Amino acid sequence: MSVILVTNDDGIHSPGIIALYKAMKNHGEAYIVAPDRERSAAGHSLTMHRPLKAEEIREHVFSVNGTPTDCVTLGINKLLPKKPDLIVSGINKGANLGDDITYSGTVAGAIEGTIFGIPSAAFSLISDKHYHFETASFFASRIAEHVLRHSLPYDTLLNVNIPNIRREDIKGIKLTRQGKRIYENSIQEMLNPWGEKHFWIGGGKIYWEHGEDTDMEAVQQDCVSISPIHLDLTNYGALKFMRESWNISDLMEE
Ligand code: MN
Repeated sequence: MSVILVTNDDGIHSPGIIALYKAMKNHGEAYIVAPDRERSAAGHSLTMHRPLKAEEIREHVFSVNGTPTDCVTLGINKLLPKKPDLIVSGINKGANLGDDITYSGTVAGAIEGTIFGIPSAAFSLISDKHYHFETASFFASRIAEHVLRHSLPYDTLLNVNIPNIRREDIKGIKLTRQGKRIYENSIQEMLNPWGEKHFWIGGGKIYWEHGEDTDMEAVQQDCVSISPIHLDLTNYGALKFMRESWNISDLMEE
């Protein structure tokens, strides 16, 4: 039987992870290893300067006082009975599209799994309220089934975004590339009760660079977006261009 590790960045009490865990139970022996509180926008951070505690709050359910990355590495190496066959992260309350990927703790959970050579996928539901987790968990279940059967290409995770609508209103599933998101006025200035200026990151307007076949385009068309993301961040086109056009020996001279 397949062993499946379920994590998230919204914390172990989020209804999104419960929905994902229930969906994964149909495909194998599922375990939750998740942060004890919300760690959204934790990115791919690892806790190295204090010890971590993993509390088994129920059978197969571990609460960790760390990040999603901590949860996956502890799950794989210490908590689960064997190396998992699949790692799923989410279902996140909110989109992880375009440039969100490197901020996202949800995606980081899948990145950590991929580093350990385990097929991994991140699932995000595009809303900030009234979540249709049943829609997202249906597609998470179908995608997990496919990945367990066929695995994934080397060094590749799936970043899945699901429109927050009823399942029957989903128009299709699209294989997409990562889009580009532009945030504007996303830092608010405010005063604390003592009149000191503070900054609060968040909110503001979000614009999108137009692009065909992007994650954003798919979800705007009420389709589920599946982007294969690889961990090798090298820009091979730029590498070739630079090797051809840069005079490297000039950089060596004083
Ligand atoms: Mn989150």
